[in-house]
Amino acid sequence: MGERRGKHSIETLAVHGGERRPGPEGSLVFPIYQGTVYTVPEGTGYDDIPYIRLSSTPSQRYLHDKLASLEGAEAAVATSSGMAAVSTAILANLKHGDHLLAADGLYGGTHGFLTREAARLGLSCAFVDAQRPASWEAALRPNTRLFLVETIANPLMRVPRLREVVEFARAHDLATLIDNTFATPVNFRPLAIGFDLVFHSATKYLNGHSDLVAGCVMGRREAIERVRHTLNHLGGVLDPHAGFLLARGLKTLALRVRAQNATALALARLLASHPKVAQVNYPGLETHPDHAHARDLLSGFGGMLSFRLKGGLAAAERLLVALEIPYVAPSLGGVETLITRPALTSHAGMSREERERIGVTDDLVRLSCGIESADDLLEDFRAALEKT
Ligand code: PLP
Repeated sequence: MGERRGKHSIETLAVHGGERRPGPEGSLVFPIYQGTVYTVPEGTGYDDIPYIRLSSTPSQRYLHDKLASLEGAEAAVATSSGMAAVSTAILANLKHGDHLLAADGLYGGTHGFLTREAARLGLSCAFVDAQRPASWEAALRPNTRLFLVETIANPLMRVPRLREVVEFARAHDLATLIDNTFATPVNFRPLAIGFDLVFHSATKYLNGHSDLVAGCVMGRREAIERVRHTLNHLGGVLDPHAGFLLARGLKTLALRVRAQNATALALARLLASHPKVAQVNYPGLETHPDHAHARDLLSGFGGMLSFRLKGGLAAAERLLVALEIPYVAPSLGGVETLITRPALTSHAGMSREERERIGVTDDLVRLSCGIESADDLLEDFRAALEKT
């Protein structure tokens, strides 16, 4: 069972957080308010008018309360994708001429937003090694305003020195923004160690069923209001239908993620001890370079891992064909186990030299553990490795 966070554990929050008791008309399940138009009392401020693009309808407010409770936040706002969450959060906090620090190896979409769109709008960025606090000071400029990191970075599952990020940001008056998609609030709650804003691609674990695209940002009420006002103009809001599915998925978040943590650890151990495996990247393994601080920060190490076989690319290709349970597919965080080669999917936009510099070799295989029986998956891997 999970640690208690305040009065209730994450299992209880996932089911009951944000719920109206009872819901409208006595319904236990909060309904979809599909309407865009509501009568409002005279004098209601523009941003408070219930309207889907303003993220202020009953279904949206319900979802926001549920999302906020999971991250232990005062407030949350849902967005139409993870990219809408990060781009809106950055544009809500920075202005033309500002500079930010960002961790090396961020998700490719976030990296592309920073280096293309944000750069065109007059924001500049220095990429830093988030595992080496001593290197950060040199990247600071007088106009540095924000530090952006991910809790667990794809595909080598590196974990930044997150406590040091918060300390450093406080010392230099920077806002902190963290992508908690890979860890989920089941394994880590960034606001509790002092991050200002946390965001997710809710497309992944929060929804958990690979059937919608969504994002969210959580933090203090006034910070979220700033994000929501920017979102009101950028327009990347979440439709109530998708919001309904997301709230439904959230109710099983803790169960799913705990099962995925356990399966990933078991598979990482199996692979690490297998004679045909050259390297396993999972922060729960003692051999992972970030294991010591990951153990201090995280209550579970997540459902993602990557590895290389001694037989290189040819063996990796044979393994993908031989496995019976995992789907060969990109993306992550759903109930089905997915396997992919990042060189062909998440990192396909990079040159081979650039990829190899950050450790994403052609033969690297990434796994997103689902909720199938861990024993069945272990057996499937044992059998498939025999054939490589
Ligand atoms: N952050 C991380 C860590 C991701 O893996 C992704 C998508 O893969 C995103 C953000 C972007 O999310 P979305 O596809 O929902 O826009």
